[in-house]
This record gives sequence, C-alpha cells and structure tokens, in this order.
Amino acid sequence: MTDQLGRTIDYLRLSVTTACNLRCPYCRPTPLGDAPPALSDDDLVRVVRAAATLGVRHLRLTGGEPLTRPHFLSLVQTLRAIPGLETLSVTTNGTLLAGQAAKLAHAGISRINISLDAADEAACDALTGVPGSFRQTLAGIRAAKEAGLLVKLNAVLLPSTDVLALLSLASREQVLLRFIEWMPIGGIPQKAPHTADLMKLLTDANLDPKPVKASLGNGPARYFVTNTGQMFGVIDALSHRFCAGCNRVRVTASGILKPCLCYGNGADLRPYLQDEAMLTNVMRNAIFQKPAQHCFDTPGGITEHHSMREIGG
Ligand code: SAM
Repeated sequence: MTDQLGRTIDYLRLSVTTACNLRCPYCRPTPLGDAPPALSDDDLVRVVRAAATLGVRHLRLTGGEPLTRPHFLSLVQTLRAIPGLETLSVTTNGTLLAGQAAKLAHAGISRINISLDAADEAACDALTGVPGSFRQTLAGIRAAKEAGLLVKLNAVLLPSTDVLALLSLASREQVLLRFIEWMPIGGIPQKAPHTADLMKLLTDANLDPKPVKASLGNGPARYFVTNTGQMFGVIDALSHRFCAGCNRVRVTASGILKPCLCYGNGADLRPYLQDEAMLTNVMRNAIFQKPAQHCFDTPGGITEHHSMREIGG
C-alpha cells in the first residue's frame, strides 16, 4: 500500500522476542521495563497475514535475538507459506546460527544479516559482554554461507570501531559488510562516527572509496567500492536521511506497529488480533499515517524511549 505521502510500504520488520543473549550497551542500555509478553506464534502469523494483504512483500524477523525464540524454525515455516510474501529474512547476532543455518535455509529463509561490531575476539566479546560470542558468530557466518544463505554483515559505527579490521574480516570471509550509523534510540547519548568520518578514514588509508550503483536487497544501504575492489555499504539514517524513500514499518514483539523508528506512538494491535478485518484496518490506518521523517537530529523530538532490543532495530 502507499502511505499519505505516496511512499510504497512493502517491507515489515517483525520482532519476535525482546530477549537477547548478548549485552551490547548501545542496543540494550536500560533494563527491560514491564514490557508485555511477546505475541504467540498464531498472533504473529495473523499480523503478517494482514500485512501481506496490505502489500507487504518483504518480511524480516528480528529481536532481541530472534534465534532465542522457542520453536523459531516452525514459525519461519508457517510465515513462509503466507501468500504474497516474496522474501523472508532474518537479522541475528549469529551466535546460535551454526546449528540452525541449514534448517533455516530449508525452512525458507533466503537472506540473513549478521551483526558483528568488532573483528577482534577480545574487543568483540568485551562489547557483547559474552565471552565466546565472537567465535560463535564467526562459526554462524560460515554455516550460513555453507547453507547457501545470502549473508551480509552489519556493524554499528562506534567510537571504538576498527573499520579496517572489519573490512579485512569481511574480505577474508567473503561477505558484504555494511556500516550502520548509531541511532539515538533509547540509549546512552554518545558521539559516534558518521559516514563522512568513515570515508575520511578509508581515504587516509589510501583505499579511495568510490560510490557504486548496487541494489542489494530492500533497504536504504548505499554502496561503495575501494581501490582493492572490495564493496561495502553504509546505512546512514543520520547523515544521509532516506525517509523520502522509506518503504518499511515495524511491529514489536508485543504487537505495537511502529510506522517510524523515531516516534513512540505506535498502534497497539493486540485488541484486534482476533478480528482479521479490524486488524487489517488498524494496520492500514497506522501505515497510512507514517510520519514524513525521523527527527534524530533534534533529540527533544524523539519520543521513542524503548531500546533497540525492544524494537528490533
Ligand atoms: N539480535 C539481532 C542482531 O544482533 O542483529 C537483531 C536485533 S538488533 C536490535 C538489530 C540491529 O540493530 C543490529 O544490527 C544492531 O547492531 C542494530 N542496532 C542496535 N542498536 C542500534 C543503535 N542504537 N543504532 C543503530 N543500530 C542499532
């Protein structure tokens, strides 16, 4: 469907849990409040069916850590069978992927984004707060590739990010890396690098990044290539606002439809889950009213106070 500004909305990020097995400080800075429980499998399916009726073609499952959800595989299988959906993908920290990648591919997942913010074992484990997480994620990346999944790596640009080391890792593992600008959502205010800082660093390292035209998925990433031939992406909501072309909405694990990441006033779908027509209508109205743009650059305007772990990123 199109929203009030004529943007086609065909992409849903659905969070299936607020639970996460990692403790990255920028993602879960505050303890979970008394958030309502996650929707049941049946209710998640109802939401996705209604979304597909409204024109959603691309579904991405996220969390928390989606692979910690009990019976995740059977949920994937059921969602995959919903008419209208063209792609089903997952965003994960990869720590539980080694044992599940082949099964996920078999269940109908085609693309997987794996979050990895450091290329060094000690630095990564310190950031996630979980010893062993780096090795698990690396094993997850390899298993996902082995299973034939289309793998992308995502790294949030933090003051500590070793950009060159992450590029080397991505090159070694032969996966596409994207850098995400840190967004001031539910978190500790911090001064994080932007794309311009990244480009300066790469230029200073004589890598001479040049923009390339590439359409590799359904998101807002822009792509560049270094003079060594390595392609990488940037997802820069702050320094390169892409709201005019935004194609997505989010549903949190507890059933709040969020038309924009920046604002806390989502539509609570829970009262309508048993009535398909009502549910579709409430979703249609909320999507139609999607705000024109985020206001990450005016901190007082951000009304979303939940953390990314609760929203799904
Ligand atoms: N646990 C999964 C994972 O690690 O990918 C899925 C959930 S996580 C919230 C989804 C994505 O959001 C991750 O790539 C994470 O790095 C990113 N993220 C979390 N907090 C962020 C922030 N404040 N700004 C930008 N990206 C953020």
